This record gives sequence, structure tokens and C-alpha cells, in this order.
Amino acid sequence: MNHRGFLYGASMSAHQVEGNCVNNNWWKYEQSRLPKFRSGIACDHWNRYKEDFALAHQLGHTAHRLSLEWSKIEPIEGKFDARAIQHYREVLLELKKYNIKTFVTLHHFTNPLWFEKRGGWQTYQAPEAFAKYVQYCAGHLGDLVDFWITINEPMVYVVQSYYKAIWPPQKKNVFTMLRVMNHFAHAHLRAYRVLRRITPHIPVGLAYSLVAYVPEYPDSVFDRLQTRIKNWFFNHRFFSLIKNKQDFIGVNYYFTNYSDKKDVVRSDMGWIISPEGLTQVLLGIKKYNKPIYITENGIADAHDVNRAEFITSHLRAIELAQKQGVDVRGYLYWSLLDNFEWAEGFEPRFGLIAIDYKTQTRTIRPSALVYKAIIEQAKRG
Ligand code: BGC
Repeated sequence: MNHRGFLYGASMSAHQVEGNCVNNNWWKYEQSRLPKFRSGIACDHWNRYKEDFALAHQLGHTAHRLSLEWSKIEPIEGKFDARAIQHYREVLLELKKYNIKTFVTLHHFTNPLWFEKRGGWQTYQAPEAFAKYVQYCAGHLGDLVDFWITINEPMVYVVQSYYKAIWPPQKKNVFTMLRVMNHFAHAHLRAYRVLRRITPHIPVGLAYSLVAYVPEYPDSVFDRLQTRIKNWFFNHRFFSLIKNKQDFIGVNYYFTNYSDKKDVVRSDMGWIISPEGLTQVLLGIKKYNKPIYITENGIADAHDVNRAEFITSHLRAIELAQKQGVDVRGYLYWSLLDNFEWAEGFEPRFGLIAIDYKTQTRTIRPSALVYKAIIEQAKRG
């Protein structure tokens, strides 16, 4: 990358790796599904974080993104669990020991059961409940956090939960979807104010999922218009809802919406590998004039045949955007470890490090070493 201090690392979220998130809405939902779709002890990261961070350090990482599990920190409304917050202090201290910068997400898809029972994000009280939890976290962890991320991918959450009805609470209602979207925006704005007050030195952002939209039939006016509307609705509308109140922009990028492309390389999830889309979405958010961090970008690739090329090509795509004036300052690969891929269970393998779920053995994949070599080269300048 073309400037010093560019951060390199990996990303993950609590429910997908920690294990035993027994008190949240996802855990409850998983119990209605086949055992292979239940998170269980996941990667047992709650107990093995030291081993995992030692590996991240060994791989040259200079930044790491994790999320706090709200249901563990506030298992009952208004009652905070001192042991849980102490655990997260130890987790963050472990990263500090290696001089790894910390990106801490406050909400990554999961809700405490008490919150869900009250109507979850559908109720207008949701932002206030979230802000109280955020205030507690800021007071107890603020000294160990380098970047706050309030909410992960609000748009993905509402589409999966209220439009496609795949994720809990599995509802299909566009009006509810739009309402939840607004509540997420208010929740971000309230959290933003709380965090700026308690930890004024720490930048606050969100992690957005940005999809590169391209018209299927570029000659068709209708298709071009449709593509523009999608791009506005899915990629930009939330920015206006929060009035650009963010100190940086977190970008989660996975794919371009090519509808029917042949002869292309696909991930194990069937997603077409399209680094050019990353340059496109980065150019699209340049107008917001904020520093940008890639907070997720990754590939499910069990046999590790495409991951190294995936990483190098996406880093090149970032460089292309930088050359056109986009201020990208870091790259966090999704994910450090194989993990629980939500409704898909454990089959998709996104990790730089493979997990054997029977023994919890960690094995570094060859692509992780390619990434390490890139990081080492960048450190040398
Ligand atoms: C989410 C992650 C997820 C990843 C891969 C993102 O949408 O933030 O939790 O594992 O994509 O699907």
C-alpha cells in the first residue's frame, strides 16, 4: 500500500467464534434447526483467544476487529455482568500486548433475549436500550479500544430478517424492514453521541456491506436506472439517515451483483470473485470525505485454492482507488478463523486459519502466509 501506517489484519464477530452465546436470539433460533446449524461452542474462542491472537501476531497482523456479545455483557436488562466485561478487557489487553490496533463492534447481528422478547429492533425503545449498553462498554473498555464500530451491516440484517425472512425473527414485511432500518440509524446516532462524550479520542464508525451494482444490460435505460436505484437504496441511503455522522467509514465488501456470468471464479458460497467491484464501491463513497477502513473482505474457500489471489487482487483494487484519491487506511480480512457462518452453519470456510471442530486444532493456511509476506513487505516500506 502506498502509505506508511496502513493497518493489516483480520476480522471476526463474537457469536461466530466464541461459543455458548446461550442468551441471544440466534442461539434460540438455532435450536429449532438441525444440529449442524447450531453454533454450540463454535471455535471456543472465548477460552482460546490467547492462542488465536498469538497466531494473528505470528502472521504479522497490526489490527484486529472483534465484536462484543451484548447478551453476555447485559444478560438481563439493566444488569451488567462484571465478569463478562472483565473478560473483554483481558481479550483487548492481549491484543495490546502485541501492539495490535483494536476495532470493536458493539452490535454484530445478535440481540439479547430480553431485548428480542420486547420486540427487538422493531420497537422505538430499541435505540435507547442500545445506547445504555454502549455507555457501559465505553466506560469499561474505552481505554483499550482504537476504533468503535457501532453496528455491523444494518442493511444486511434487515434484508435477511425482514425481507427474505431467513434470519430471526424471520418476518417478511417491507414496512417493518424500513422501520427497523430507521431504528438502526437512530441507534447509531445515539451511540455516536455517547461514544464521542465518553471516549472523545476514539473514532466512531459503522461497518457497511457495500455491493458493486452493474447493469446487466448497459444499453437499456431501464436497467441502468434500476441499477442506480439499487445502488442508492442499498449502498447510500443509510449514510443520509445518519447524516454522515461517522468519523470513518467501515466497508465490508464481498461481491458485484453480476447476474449471470459464465467462466468466472466463484467462492464456495457461489459468489463471483470481483475485485474491480471494490474499486467501484470505494470510488462511490469518496464523496463522503472520510477515512475508510475495509472492515471485512473475504472468501469461503475450503481448499485454499483462490484465497491468496483473492487477497492480493483486492489489495490491488484498493491501491487503484487510492491512486484516484480515496483515503483507505486499513484492510481487515474476513476472517481470522473458520467460523459459524450464520444460517449456513460451519461448512463455509472463510479462515486464514483452519479449524478442526472436533479437536479445536488451529492450522495456518498457506494463503495466510502469502498475506503475511505482503504485510511484512509493507512494514519494510
Ligand atoms: C458478515 C459476517 C459474515 C460474512 C460472510 C458479513 O456479511 O458481517 O458476519 O460471516 O459477511 O458472509
